[in-house]
Amino acid sequence: MQTKDIIFELRTKKGLSQDELAERVFVTRQAVSRWENGETIPNTETLKLLSKLFNVSINTLLGSPRELVCECCGMPMNDSHISRENDGFFNEDYCRWCYANGEYTLDIWKLGDKKKFEEIKAQLIKEFNTLLHIEGLPKVEDLNVLSGEFVNLEYILPNGEKVKFLNDNATYLGNQLEGESKCYGIVANMDFLLVCTYEENGANPKLVMYRKR
Ligand SMILES: [Zn+2]
Repeated sequence: MQTKDIIFELRTKKGLSQDELAERVFVTRQAVSRWENGETIPNTETLKLLSKLFNVSINTLLGSPRELVCECCGMPMNDSHISRENDGFFNEDYCRWCYANGEYTLDIWKLGDKKKFEEIKAQLIKEFNTLLHIEGLPKVEDLNVLSGEFVNLEYILPNGEKVKFLNDNATYLGNQLEGESKCYGIVANMDFLLVCTYEENGANPKLVMYRKR
């Protein structure tokens, strides 16, 4: 779809007249009309306002010319994955797991340095392999970037208490390792290392170790 059709569709879906849309984004009704006729496209500042108003990315308004990929974790993004700034505008460079509330969610991203990132990852792998001494834990070869909401399991402690250790909105490094009879889940960031086990499809998760770094 082209920008002219996208704007028309979003405007009518929201039940706005051309006049009303014009008023919301500080342009004239004629400007809106020209967008919808395909004579012009909105300028950058207006695209930002339209993006916020319609709750779609600028990339979507422009007819999705780019495949959006998070610059931190490399995840392909659709509009529901894109992060936002504190003022509600989309930040189309990052996914919402890597960047939230105007900040990077993982200290490693702040460095903005792929080499440093690889160094930190190597250090965490080394710590999993040499510091923890967990029987049956396969050797850790690699760590992937993981969204908190997928790895924030609820554990039942020996006293029956239920507990979660992670933040659904943060990003972690981790992996899943196949042991002899069960799976091991490992998760880490700059502050901690966590090892758990679970059965098929994540059933019956058990915390093996949570260690501060
Ligand atoms: Zn990301």
